[in-house]
Amino acid sequence: MTMFGRSCEHEAAVRDLARSNLEAPALRGHATTCAVCHETLAVASWMQQLATLPIEGPPLPDPMHIWLKAEMLRRWDAHRKAVVTPLEVGERIQMGIGLAGATALLAWLWSRLNTLQPSAVLPSPVTIMLIVSVVLLAGALSIFARELMARE
Ligand SMILES: [Zn+2]
Repeated sequence: MTMFGRSCEHEAAVRDLARSNLEAPALRGHATTCAVCHETLAVASWMQQLATLPIEGPPLPDPMHIWLKAEMLRRWDAHRKAVVTPLEVGERIQMGIGLAGATALLAWLWSRLNTLQPSAVLPSPVTIMLIVSVVLLAGALSIFARELMARE
């Protein structure tokens, strides 16, 4: 490029220098002494700064709104991890203990049933308890199975 009839062999390198933002002390030193390169560097730097300015476009969403939404999601996730997960584990443990207790009771009642003399008139209280515990155990097992199916 010629400027008022003058030109410099380093002009292209100086333009690249402004674009790449490199240090290149030798070339910058030349630009301070050479009028052509000094002008080229000034113009190229200004153009580079102009290019980095944001382009007017559709209005961006309110940053406060975005931040609040992100914060809400973060808290909700933290709450879920801290409260809901241990609750689910606790529920499973409770159900396991309940089932184990019901099974132990059933086994004990079954052993008691064999030692008693069968009554022809009324069923013994042990028999009634045995039937009730079998029904409860079956109900609890079906609920437990359904919960496990729903989670997996
Ligand atoms: Zn020059």
